[in-house]
Amino acid sequence: MDSCVFCKIIAGDLPSTRVYEDDKVIAFKDLNPVAPVHVLVVPRQHIVSINEFAEQDPAGELAIHLMNCIPKVAEACGVVESGYRLINNCGKDGGQTVPHFHIHIIGGEDLGPGLR
Ligand code: AMP
Ligand code: ZN
Repeated sequence: MDSCVFCKIIAGDLPSTRVYEDDKVIAFKDLNPVAPVHVLVVPRQHIVSINEFAEQDPAGELAIHLMNCIPKVAEACGVVESGYRLINNCGKDGGQTVPHFHIHIIGGEDLGPGLR
């Protein structure tokens, strides 16, 4: 996707601070962190949101891989023991601003119990 900011990061056409990468997934620091650790876990494949995921990944291989990457990324960020929060924003009311599926990993401090 030519206009997609995360596809540009994946292609290396935009800078990012990568903390993890493999053949299917990359993780890089969020530009506007809301906590000491704030990284985005992103499939290299352009999938707009969770709503399109099953259609684009019918066997679920990418979904499983992505899920299994989360603790590896958390380990790389030093929060696997202290804990962290995963967030996926979907669509307008969900607050999704970049239409390329991504999971936020947030941590590095006590985030409390709140959802908002
Ligand atoms: P969301 O609102 O869930 O779609 O999250 C998009 C996230 O991408 C926001 O937290 C932004 O700060 C982050 N972001 C946007 N552009 C960049 C970029 N070039 N590098 C790193 N993070 C970015
Ligand atoms: Zn994209």
